Amino acid sequence: MADEQRRARYLEALGIEQWVRRATPVAELAMATAVASPTAAVDGLDWPALRACVSDCQRCGLHKTRTQTVFGVGDSAAHWMVVGEAPGADEDRQGEPFVGAAGQLLNAMLAAIDLPRESVFIANILKCRPPDNRDPKPEEVAECLPYLHRQVSLVRPRIILAFGRVAAQNLLGTDTPLGKLRGSVHRFGALNTPVIVTYHPAYLLRTPSEKRKAWEDLKFARRIYSELTVEA
Ligand code: SF4
Repeated sequence: MADEQRRARYLEALGIEQWVRRATPVAELAMATAVASPTAAVDGLDWPALRACVSDCQRCGLHKTRTQTVFGVGDSAAHWMVVGEAPGADEDRQGEPFVGAAGQLLNAMLAAIDLPRESVFIANILKCRPPDNRDPKPEEVAECLPYLHRQVSLVRPRIILAFGRVAAQNLLGTDTPLGKLRGSVHRFGALNTPVIVTYHPAYLLRTPSEKRKAWEDLKFARRIYSELTVEA
């Protein structure tokens, strides 16, 4: 399929009609340390240790109701990182973030800015599903966020796309409404990684009229990434 045809198909999926153009001994030791002292120990974990630590995590009550943890997926050296809220029912079943209808739309959104899903790293604020898809509780976020910080430190993305209010507000540590967070470059974590905020695909499925705004956000993110790449 020609690039333009592919892009047209993704934009159609977005509802946009116009195109302006497991654990080693070291990991086991790290896990034991992490249980005793969460944040500091997580900071030093490598990928296998971090994955094992998340897989066995019981730091918050969500471990009681999960089918499995949802660690994250994608290129561990990606330039782009996608951060969402928490696993839903499909993700809890499959162990992968952003699957099902919202995942399909996410893939289309990424492809519209020339990002195949496998080229990015995708993770959530929470690694376990909140029952009935309720919003994460602050104490759950506080327990789980060190894992995301470590993932960002390991991936070292050039830019982070935060999808949805919960992801954006928890990443940025703010109560500012999503609408006011859009269109600006925010910063996250020890590496001061640029963050661009947009709507969650699940919200866009319920509110298709907002898809055009999401498209504006994606183009904005692309432009910021290009500028960062030129500067690098
Ligand atoms: S949500 Fe995070 S902190 Fe809570 S049990 Fe799952 S992995 Fe651990």
